[in-house]
Amino acid sequence: MAVDLEETARDRGIKYFLISYTDLFGAQRAKLVPTAAIGSMQRSGAGFAGFATWLDMTPADADLFAKPDPASLIQLPWKPEVGWLAADLWMNGKEVEHAPRNTLKRLMARGREMGFQMKSGVECEFFLTNADGSAISDGADTQDKPCYDQLALMRRYEVITEICDAMLALGWKPYQNDHEDANGQFEMNWAFDDALATADKHSFFKYMTKSIAEKHGLRATFMPKPFVNLTGSGCHAHVSLWNEGTAMFEDDGGELGVSQLGYHFIGGLMHNAAAICAITNPTVNSYKRINAPRTVSGATWAPNTVSYTGNNRTHMIRIPDPGRFEFRLPDGAANPYLLQAALLAAGIDGIENKRDPGERSDVNMYTEGHLCTNGKALPLNLLDALRELESSDVLKGALGEEFVTAYVKLKTQEWNAYARHLTQWERDNTLDC
Ligand code: GLU
Ligand code: MG
Ligand code: MG
Repeated sequence: MAVDLEETARDRGIKYFLISYTDLFGAQRAKLVPTAAIGSMQRSGAGFAGFATWLDMTPADADLFAKPDPASLIQLPWKPEVGWLAADLWMNGKEVEHAPRNTLKRLMARGREMGFQMKSGVECEFFLTNADGSAISDGADTQDKPCYDQLALMRRYEVITEICDAMLALGWKPYQNDHEDANGQFEMNWAFDDALATADKHSFFKYMTKSIAEKHGLRATFMPKPFVNLTGSGCHAHVSLWNEGTAMFEDDGGELGVSQLGYHFIGGLMHNAAAICAITNPTVNSYKRINAPRTVSGATWAPNTVSYTGNNRTHMIRIPDPGRFEFRLPDGAANPYLLQAALLAAGIDGIENKRDPGERSDVNMYTEGHLCTNGKALPLNLLDALRELESSDVLKGALGEEFVTAYVKLKTQEWNAYARHLTQWERDNTLDC
């Protein structure tokens, strides 16, 4: 039976609903709606002017309607009188084809038709900085090898545990929190789930982490490479396919315990990596993470080559154990819905076209990358990645022509705005040319 949000609000003490959608650039847009009005919003959606956000729309376009999905409801743990709802976008009575959540839902449905459900988990790394974002917040966090630093982790106990307590209360099954490999950087992990549920949680996690950090006078950033000399923030995705209770990537007889279907999925990711990079690594800054020189501690932990391996963190795809693999390319700027949609699009292509990922490589990519001879380099910048996406018939087919056109158009405008920008580096190095 359909959930009546007005009734839910009465039962759970909700006074306001935040009807939220995520635009193409990953920004969350919302309207705060009093409970008395939620009935009609649930039926027809909350109205927005689409052009005012990062969607391919014009000021002349009709109203955009965000229809909330009751299954996504989360009461803000730090303000339980507000209920957050992820919404799907509609215009002129039709679903907006290029809206991120709608795009992911289409691909999930395609997966179901093919007999599987994709589940995934995301590892969102982030920095805690001072309120203006100019430096990390902890002046004593200066070690050269700061990973798992116990003291620095415990100096942020209040903020980290407020977020973890919230995840416990929400039933997300969080299981560990750590200080990561950059000064001021942290990671918090919760259980994997259906890919759409994970995308909703991922969106909410970013919002929650930023909000709780602000409450503590800090700022949380998921920017891929906020500081030149520190490791960047990745958003590794752990992927598995399921049919009822069966893990479809598992096969005792397969190489490393992975089934042929699993290798085809990996083959799809390898084949389409350069093009989906425009989605998994969506900003100008993203390319400063994957093409960074090694840091003081000895590694970037981010891939710069299309390759896969066993349990070795220097490659783009890692198979830590049978049943799932880790895709290490995505970063903190990735749009939560488009990240999962890109994975599905590439994986479905791999399965349908039986893509062979080739020989796996077990070399250390930071010291012996030249030995991984069949590995192609990942794009060096956003423009190269956008060109790969634009020319990919596979992704146009899977994500939709309308989506690829809209995404490439807006992101190319962003690239052009960046390219017009004059940097201090140019003045410092070429003023006297
Ligand atoms: N921060 C690294 C990255 O940019 C990942 C570190 C890790 O393996 O957790 O991907
Ligand atoms: Mg990590
Ligand atoms: Mg990881």
